[in-house]
Amino acid sequence: MIVAEGITKSFGNLQVLKGINLTINQGEVVSIVGPSGAGKTTLLQILGTLDKPDGGRLLIHDTDVLHLSEQKLSAFRNQNIGFVFQFHQLLPEFTALENVMIPALIANEKASAAEKRAKEILSFLKLSDRMSHKPAELSGGEKQRVAVARALINHPQVILADEPSGSLDTRNKEELHALFFELRDQMNQTFVIVTHDEQLASQTDRTIHIRDGVVSEEASIKE
Ligand code: ATP
Repeated sequence: MIVAEGITKSFGNLQVLKGINLTINQGEVVSIVGPSGAGKTTLLQILGTLDKPDGGRLLIHDTDVLHLSEQKLSAFRNQNIGFVFQFHQLLPEFTALENVMIPALIANEKASAAEKRAKEILSFLKLSDRMSHKPAELSGGEKQRVAVARALINHPQVILADEPSGSLDTRNKEELHALFFELRDQMNQTFVIVTHDEQLASQTDRTIHIRDGVVSEEASIKE
């Protein structure tokens, strides 16, 4: 569960976030929408502890992350938060399997255990026959699915995704969106997704609208 209270953030004279309050429950797929420049990416970066707010409180799985030391925060982030970006950000010199293993190795897991789990996840994501391919040898849709596998490897509390299907064609987009809901249903995986895709937003359990630096309305949880 994520609880954000009174999150504020300015860049110079521009106050982008003016007091964001939100709660994300375990197993929810939540979309964040709003006009361009509304602060969606800024908010996602703060929820992911990649950027610090100027004020407010942020609890992730009961940990007050804004008061952790840099070293503890970095370990916490690696263990608890998975990221999927618009462009896959896989390391080009490593295979799909190696890319997926990296967060587990950073968490000091044994290579054999990391490899076993990475293979299981890649298999679940129907990528077994692409494991030894490097990113340049994968299609756009496959690269995003490998990025999801990498985000999943440490069993994160939440996966934060910023326009995850923004660079995909319709078929791959729909496949990726279906994967998010499958992971929610089968693993109770929580997702927070910044998107301009209205179809995706309409499918999520809840949509958070950001406007003028605050949460302007929240659709109620679907029955
Ligand atoms: P989009 O939908 O276009 O991606 P967004 O809602 O994700 O937009 P952000 O990327 O969060 O918006 O940016 C919010 C505002 O903050 C914008 O006006 C942007 O120019 C500004 N901004 C974001 N990051 C920085 C930064 N590092 N330095 C200065 N200004 C920034």
